Amino acid sequence: MSEQVRIRPNVEGLPPYRPGKAPVPREGIAAYKIASNENPHPPLPRVAKAIAAAALEINRYPDAGNVELAEALSRMLQVPVEDLAFGPGSVGILGQILQASCDPGDEVVYPWPSFEGYPLCAGLADATSVRVPLTAGARLDLPAMAAAVTERTRVVMVCTPNNPTGPAVGASELAELLAAVPPHVLVVVDEAYLEFVTAQDAPDALDVYRRHPNVVVLRTFSKAYGLAGLRIGYAVAQAPLAEAIRKTCLPFAVNRLAQVAAVESIAAVDELQVRVDGIVEERGRVMAALRAQGWDVPDSQANFVWLPLGEESLEFAALCDSEALSVRPFAGTGVRCSIGETEANDRLVELAAAYRSGRRA
Ligand SMILES: *Cc1c(COP(=O)(O)O)cnc(C)c1O
Repeated sequence: MSEQVRIRPNVEGLPPYRPGKAPVPREGIAAYKIASNENPHPPLPRVAKAIAAAALEINRYPDAGNVELAEALSRMLQVPVEDLAFGPGSVGILGQILQASCDPGDEVVYPWPSFEGYPLCAGLADATSVRVPLTAGARLDLPAMAAAVTERTRVVMVCTPNNPTGPAVGASELAELLAAVPPHVLVVVDEAYLEFVTAQDAPDALDVYRRHPNVVVLRTFSKAYGLAGLRIGYAVAQAPLAEAIRKTCLPFAVNRLAQVAAVESIAAVDELQVRVDGIVEERGRVMAALRAQGWDVPDSQANFVWLPLGEESLEFAALCDSEALSVRPFAGTGVRCSIGETEANDRLVELAAAYRSGRRA
């Protein structure tokens, strides 16, 4: 046998990230993708214009310090610039956080099912994944997560709202988790869907990070702000932690187009929020329609709904595929369906009804 290049075992064992699929086109009907929690709206004209103008300067490197963006975000969030770090998507920042905090064999506690970036980033850092099952209501089991912390635990991931199931954690249960976790353990509050949250008892994560030097808040421009294709996210943490995250960033990881698009989006935040409000309204409509059909849909605080189909998940996804609607099945657990264009949402509701009646027959 020929000699082979040695790949580190943790890399060999990495789960591949499976992105949401493009829909399979079908004659006569529009094809829709509700598989990746993307924003169905194209960029605002003023954002598209800023990107087009910046495209004429891409022969130059971007600003490695993200200075203009940091200043704009600091004003919007009312946090010091020293407490901000940027990266190529919040998943990029999560990778940086684990690199900054984990040695091989250290443990990362996260809920499951949850975001598929968690096992990937933990594996890249050669850390050990400790998965804590959700409660029966598809919610994070924060007491069980606190109980899963050992001497090897470096990071606890709190995904709120939880992707793919939808519920958000409450402020008091998060406070209890933080009281139970030792102060040297990092707690990452992943708020990728924050802008869609309407629950009254949701935590104010910016208040939480100010009180806890071991908390990092992760946010993104991908979902509510519709910049998924440009890859930009940010972290908010007290200065020493934010600095460690900035240090583990590859040089120029955030590109020039992403920087200007994010700055322009911050200036247009009110316009963007109108779109978010529309998606939230559609979420309510879709959840109500599905529940009226008899589906046990958990309370979604994000831009997607969860159908707990268990062993039937792939079958339902195949039905949607055949109708030019791509959803995101998780084999053996359920199907995540993003809130998309009105017609896409209508089609989902119709297919869900057809599937149920077919099952009963
Ligand atoms: C989409 C998502 C992210 C990553 O978003 P980026 O595009 O990398 O900024 C992070 N966490 C959760 C829970 C997500 O669903």
